[in-house]
Order: sequence, then structure tokens, then C-alpha cells
Amino acid sequence: MDLEFSPEEIAFRDEVRAFIAENYPAQLRGKQDEGDELTKEDFLSWHRVLHKKGWVAPAWPVEYGGTGWSVTQRFIFSEETARADCIRLMPFGLTMVGPVIYTFGTPEQKAKFLPRILSGEDWWCQGYSEPGAGSDLANLRTRAVRDGDHYVINGQKTWTTMAQHADWGFFLCRTDPDVKAQEGISFILVDMKTPGIEVRPIITLGGEHEVNEVFLEDVRVPVENRVFEENKGWTCAKFLLAHERVGIAGVASSKRGVERIKEIAQTELDGESRCSPTRSSAARWPNWKWT
Ligand SMILES: Cc1cc2nc3c(=O)[nH]c(=O)nc-3n(C[C@H](O)[C@H](O)[C@H](O)COP(=O)(O)OP(=O)(O)OC[C@H]3O[C@@H](n4cnc5c(N)ncnc54)[C@H](O)[C@@H]3O)c2cc1C
Repeated sequence: MDLEFSPEEIAFRDEVRAFIAENYPAQLRGKQDEGDELTKEDFLSWHRVLHKKGWVAPAWPVEYGGTGWSVTQRFIFSEETARADCIRLMPFGLTMVGPVIYTFGTPEQKAKFLPRILSGEDWWCQGYSEPGAGSDLANLRTRAVRDGDHYVINGQKTWTTMAQHADWGFFLCRTDPDVKAQEGISFILVDMKTPGIEVRPIITLGGEHEVNEVFLEDVRVPVENRVFEENKGWTCAKFLLAHERVGIAGVASSKRGVERIKEIAQTELDGESRCSPTRSSAARWPNWKWT
């Protein structure tokens, strides 16, 4: 098997490399180098550059705004963005709910949500986990009860990353409590500004505000915001998790992190430094640094 890049692939790699060098936001680079905490606006600054170029969602089908790249091109793109220490984009829209919507959504849902995910106008959060429903996700108890053309949602989610910034959330809700757990769940898109939603911060041991509790009390959501069939949300949930876990693995950026550790260890062995990595060098590898 020949694993060498073809001349076309090398040309593509050079194009990606040059694009990053010329277009990566200078202010963002500066904050990374200084080890400053990154804001929502920082993450959006790189997102917008990639969106303008048409590269923000490499794996999406072309008809919905993807690139049409081969698997090798996508591999090269992820290697090059990691190599250049680019931040990773917020995944909740691009690699989680976006693929669910273009796979299971109605034409109206696709038209409404997909362009705004690509542009970064809408930020999403993931309302899966609950107290008592983590690994055993199908045990979730948040209820959505039909009331005419709305669902009325009551319950609690937890560990909801970046919910404090989210415009929309995708929530797993129990719509039938009388069947096997997996068969009574629906996948519902919720405007986070809807009355009855309260987002409470969970401050982690590191002092950061990344995750939250989300309380839902009599939250009225139009039935048209349900993706796929009622009580078939488990199908969407599993599909989404397959995308999520592959993305979160962060293979290229993790490889860069290991390389960096080796460099630091070698420096120590060579006696060039007696110190631990500087704040600035550590900050060059921010995979999941949200504020
Ligand atoms: C930083 C962070 C961000 C997160 N962001 C989100 C988010 O945005 N949205 C969201 O919905 N969720 C989020 N989560 C939740 C995450 O998906 C859950 O933590 C995960 O599903 C595990 O659930 P749990 O924490 O309740 O652990 P538990 O389910 O209580 O598991 C605890 C331990 O027990 C083990 N265990 C559980 N069941 C079994 C079993 N039957 N047999 C053997 N071992 C078992 C597990 O492997 C684990 O080691 C986030 C979590 C973290 C840490």
C-alpha cells in the first residue's frame, strides 16, 4: 500500500499551510501565546475565517456547505491546523447537531439551522446528561409533554458545556414513559432564550466556568422543533454520539501534544532547562480551553 501523498495532495497541503499562515487571526494567536483565556469571540474569529473560505465544515455533504474533500484531504487539513496550533472549533453545531439535522431533519429545519451553524451565528449546547443519566443515558427523566402544537418540557440537565453562551440547545426528552427506555425519547431543538430555562454555572476544580446545570420549567417548544419521529430520538442520539466521539478524540492535536511533551523531555535531558514548561508554551496547546 502506498501511503505517500500524491503531488496534488502535497499541493493541497501547501495551500492549507499558506492559508493558515496568512489568515489565522493575529489577536487570537497573541492570546494563545500569552496563555490568556479565550472568549466566545476568540473562538468565533477563527470560525468566521474558515466559514468565509468555505472550509468550516469539511465533512459535511457539499449540498449543505461541505468541502467535497477526500478523506486524505480532511486528514491533511486536521494535521495542518494542529501543526499550526490553531484552536479547535466549537463542535456542538458543526460536528454534533449539524449532521443530525442534515440527516434526519425536515427541509424547513435544514434551511433554518444549517446556514447559521456554518456562519457561527448560532451557538449550540448539548442537553443529554442528567443527574442519574450519564453512562446510562437512556435513564433520562426530563419530560416533554404534548400540548397542542407545543411540547412542555420539565427537567434538569447537567454538565452542559458552554450553555451560558448558547443560543440553541439540542435536548433529549422523554416523550413516552411507558415503553422500554430507549423507545420513549425525542430529540428536540430548544431556543435557549425560551422562558423557563435557567442556566447555573458549575465551577470546576480548576476555577473555570465551562460546564453548567440547565433547569427547564414549563418550557414551551414548538413541535416543529422535534427532529425525526416522536419517540425515535434515540436513533438521532446514537448517530450524534458517533460523530461526537470521533471529533473529540482530536487525533491530530493530541499527536502534536505528545510531540511537544517529547520536546520538553528532551530539553530537560539535554540539561538546557531545569524548569517546567512555561505558561506561554503550555498555552500553545489549548484543545478545550473555554471561558
Ligand atoms: C468536561 C465535561 C463536559 C461535559 N459536557 C457535556 C455536555 O455538554 N452535554 C452533556 O449532555 N453531557 C456532558 N458531559 C457529561 C458526560 O457525557 C458524562 O460525564 C458521561 O456521560 C458520564 O456520565 P457520568 O459523569 O454521570 O458518570 P457515571 O455514569 O456516573 O459513571 C461513573 C463511572 O462509572 C462507570 N460506569 C458507569 N456505569 C457502569 C456500568 N454499568 N458498568 C461499569 N462501569 C460503569 C463509568 O465508566 C465511570 O467511570 C460532560 C462531562 C464532562 C466531564
